Amino acid sequence: MANPDIVIVGGGINGCAAAYHLAREGHRVAVVERYQPAAMASGWTLAGVRQSGRDPAELPLARAAVELWASLDAELGADTGYRREGNLRLARTDSEAEIIHRLVEDQRQAGLDLRYLAGPDDIRAIAPAIAPTVVAASFCPTDGHADPLATVEAYRAAAERHGAEFRLGEGARSIEVKGDRVTGVVTDRVRIGCAVCVVAGGVHSNDLLTPLALTVPLRVPMVTVLQTDRLPAMLKPVLGVATADLAGRQQIDGRLRVTSGAELWHGALEDGPVPVVNPTVESVAGVIERVSAVLPVLREARIARIWAGLLDVTPDALPVIERAPEIDGLVIATGFSGHGFGIAPITALLLRDLALGAPPRMPLEAFRRARFAEGGSAGLTVPAALHG
Ligand SMILES: Cc1cc2nc3c(=O)[nH]c(=O)nc-3n(C[C@H](O)[C@H](O)[C@H](O)COP(=O)(O)OP(=O)(O)OC[C@H]3O[C@@H](n4cnc5c(N)ncnc54)[C@H](O)[C@@H]3O)c2cc1C
Repeated sequence: MANPDIVIVGGGINGCAAAYHLAREGHRVAVVERYQPAAMASGWTLAGVRQSGRDPAELPLARAAVELWASLDAELGADTGYRREGNLRLARTDSEAEIIHRLVEDQRQAGLDLRYLAGPDDIRAIAPAIAPTVVAASFCPTDGHADPLATVEAYRAAAERHGAEFRLGEGARSIEVKGDRVTGVVTDRVRIGCAVCVVAGGVHSNDLLTPLALTVPLRVPMVTVLQTDRLPAMLKPVLGVATADLAGRQQIDGRLRVTSGAELWHGALEDGPVPVVNPTVESVAGVIERVSAVLPVLREARIARIWAGLLDVTPDALPVIERAPEIDGLVIATGFSGHGFGIAPITALLLRDLALGAPPRMPLEAFRRARFAEGGSAGLTVPAALHG
């Protein structure tokens, strides 16, 4: 490809989906990905697609995304494994039930169809596999889940069909800026001239932003994930809990995929064809204990795979989605704080708008980087690192 119009750094769901929208409109797009598509968060993820439990600022994006998910398979010509089968957020104690009750009231006021289930019978009517000790839950019937690798591949393949170039196994070292304009991206192989660069590098975004004095405040916790062998169908909704210390779902192939909450990361990231984070034994034991307390069948299941993933968490757990005011042509998409998968279909359209210098189709005030210097956003009604 001659010099592209737009270079996207990062082949996660956000980079691949933004590449698709830009390429299908005829723009020359190159995606620079150090490993392979979905090598990091977009492959490590639980892949819940939820509106429930979202910060009020993010809820409009989540609702718009759920609309888009409905026709994504047809649009991309591939099976993303998307299922709109609900999200159950469980309360294991009376104090957790209070948190859930408040969440339901707040989000119902915001117009979301979120129901409060006041006892185990109502919960087990929706998910019979849930332990009878669970005292209450919220249920959002329009939430769901998808297959993360299939979704990223669907976006990548569609982008490639429209002419996007994927430069895999190539790391971006720096963004070249002359005056106050982006002029190129320097990789570990070449310099690529371009007027627009989209940084969608997940936990590594600051490697490129800090040299430009545009650091996004991020902390990087770890989430441990266990995947079982295939089991008979038993659980349709995605599971979460009031305090966000576990999440889980049954994949459409029958495997349970269950996770811890956000935990302190020990700091080791092993390099290889894809980066690997090994969870601690204590963290794995904690997932087994907490998840089997609400989903007893886990105790009997055979474990097929264990891994951990990293989250790019901002101080208010909302992402940065902006065209940087300081440097013309620089678009930033990072800090998705453990819930960027579900909203990716709308995030990608917003990145398309920002990359083209068009007015964004939804207000992005809450996602400006400058908010951190201005004192942050309003308080959250749910724990900041909620995922699933
Ligand atoms: C365990 C876990 C569970 C989660 N559960 C959910 C959930 O249920 N629902 C939900 O909505 N979200 C969830 N999330 C969060 C969600 O997965 C992420 O927010 C989303 O995948 C982020 O996508 P991304 O494209 O921004 O980043 P990533 O997928 O991390 O992609 C960034 C890519 O950029 C590449 N890169 C970085 N720097 C460079 C560079 N300099 N040069 C070249 N390439 C570079 C990396 O290799 C990587 O592939 C979860 C995350 C984890 C880890």
